[in-house]
Amino acid sequence: MEAITRLSSVVCCDNCNWQQDIDERELKDFVNKLCPECGFILLTEQAYLENNLLLSLIDFTNKIMETIDGTEEEDIEVSVKIG
Ligand SMILES: [Zn+2]
Repeated sequence: MEAITRLSSVVCCDNCNWQQDIDERELKDFVNKLCPECGFILLTEQAYLENNLLLSLIDFTNKIMETIDGTEEEDIEVSVKIG
């Protein structure tokens, strides 16, 4: 079970509210792309890197939570054997 579940990613324009659902693997394709509605840059390199950092933090947190869950299961298993 993931501690933090990611909702689907959306690319949106800060200028005119245009938006599109995307797979997060497609996100890098939107770096420095222009909005089809108004020509505003959709995703700067900086914003892309910040987004990647956020996704990494979510994955990292989930891995820690999985590890903690696993430890609890082992503890239960051990106590059953003792009992
Ligand atoms: Zn726009």
